[in-house]
Amino acid sequence: MSGMELTREFFLGFIKLHILHHAAQEPICGVDLVEELGTHGYELSPGTLYPTLHALERAGYLEHHERTVHGRRRKYYVATEAGVEALERGKAQARELTRELLEEP
Ligand SMILES: [Zn+2]
Repeated sequence: MSGMELTREFFLGFIKLHILHHAAQEPICGVDLVEELGTHGYELSPGTLYPTLHALERAGYLEHHERTVHGRRRKYYVATEAGVEALERGKAQARELTRELLEEP
């Protein structure tokens, strides 16, 4: 695996946790997610975001309903109970990992 591929793998894992985190708080649409993740320095193309949303939905972690906003149909995603549980496991792992990675020598 090349360095770039590995970086992309990390990126996708962080993105999934991030999506679950926000979808557990309130229904969120793809456009809002691109913007929100952009504020954290992630440049996310629709070609990456939408397949990721669909994969999380197929896994049973997200569900969506459609809303019309300014005359446009949009899918709003919310975390399911299984999604919230997966998020809690992810948070525990992230906490443990950051503790080790960022530990002062
Ligand atoms: Zn965020």
